[in-house]
Amino acid sequence: MQIKCSFCSMPFALTNEQVAEAVEILKKDARAHYDAHCPKCRRSTKLAKKAFELNPVTKKMLEG
Ligand SMILES: [Zn+2]
Repeated sequence: MQIKCSFCSMPFALTNEQVAEAVEILKKDARAHYDAHCPKCRRSTKLAKKAFELNPVTKKMLEG
């Protein structure tokens, strides 16, 4: 899943493992955020459930 760093705008991908981890967190708590660490600036971009609902694949994972 492709995301964009909110600090330096660097586009980077979450691995399938990271996506699965995020989905588990968000299934337990819909108001939680997943911290995606940027490979360039090392800061963490907070991803809300909404970010995963925009992607058809992760949306399905959240529902399943
Ligand atoms: Zn960054």
